[in-house]
Amino acid sequence: MLDALPLLTLPTAAEATDAAAPRLLILYTGGTVGMAVNRRQELVPMHFSKLGKRMPELRQLPYRLELLAFPQPIDSSNVTPADWLWLAELIGLHYADFDGFIILHGTDTMAYSAAALSFLLESLGKPVIFTGAQVPVGRTRTDATRNLLTALEIAAARHPHAHTVRLPEVGVFFNDVLIRGTRAKKVESQQFAAFKSENYPPLVRAGINLDFNDTNIRLLPAARLKVHQKLEEKVAVLRLFPGITEGVVEAVLSVPGLRGCVLETYGSGNAPTAPWFLACLERAYARGVYLLNVSQCEEGRVVQGHYETSARLAGLGVIGGDDITTEAAITKLMFVLGLGLSEVETRQLLSHDLRGEITLKTSVG
Ligand code: ASP
Repeated sequence: MLDALPLLTLPTAAEATDAAAPRLLILYTGGTVGMAVNRRQELVPMHFSKLGKRMPELRQLPYRLELLAFPQPIDSSNVTPADWLWLAELIGLHYADFDGFIILHGTDTMAYSAAALSFLLESLGKPVIFTGAQVPVGRTRTDATRNLLTALEIAAARHPHAHTVRLPEVGVFFNDVLIRGTRAKKVESQQFAAFKSENYPPLVRAGINLDFNDTNIRLLPAARLKVHQKLEEKVAVLRLFPGITEGVVEAVLSVPGLRGCVLETYGSGNAPTAPWFLACLERAYARGVYLLNVSQCEEGRVVQGHYETSARLAGLGVIGGDDITTEAAITKLMFVLGLGLSEVETRQLLSHDLRGEITLKTSVG
């Protein structure tokens, strides 16, 4: 069914026959970038096959561009894990034919989607860049043109001498900054700088030139792309707050069939020491629920055992999430639990870095 989705060739300065010109695939899923106002004056995603017309600048690019649009473009608040599996499968299907992929996506859940795709695409050797806009394409002050044009340029970039791929990663490009897919967080709904790179330096900064942060870009040994096709959806996020009641904690952790839960704790991974709270965690652990400890702080890391208020957590089966974001943690849980591994292997993967979502302290430049 996916291979039946038509590819639309966009006219550019690169002849279709210019085999040396980078070939890039734009996948349009929806979001503000392609929205228009409906009769009730609401913003709704429109069909994007007119991209070339709305962005005449594309015609000047020295790349071969093709567009593939979701049959029903969506506001990204409606994105589901099924959409992530679709996107991963589409990339797998067209992987050999393109040098890079751009995913036009709503900003609201872009960080979740970028993290999910990072996990689903194992041994990725080509750029997969999410971008979108705060102001729809076609509006005078749109940020869509700049975001898309620069994302395309990054996707086409090669190391000057070796001619190898410059960014073999999933990333989010927005407002002149490219962030690793497992590190992005939407932090703004009104300004153009909508995303922040949490606990890790941006991978590319776009000024007059593109400044690639090569030290922090993941370069993996060449391997065949593996597209994973399963995500476990029976997961939850439990954000702690002073005054949270036993009823709330127990209700979340005892959801029938729950397999994993991100526990959003305080500071360096601290949580209440009240006996009822620890008993809730203990019961969840006994039911086989994997608990991943993620800090509510935007910077810093979880260090279980640093304070008395986190000393008991590891003994109750809680896995320290280190400096992972909630977006990466929830999608990592979905991915790892979807692999159907043993408890030991599952715990091993959940506590280790898989796609640059956890910082190995020595690797940050
Ligand atoms: N609601 C929109 C979306 O996420 C917002 C955006 O794209 O900026 O689809």
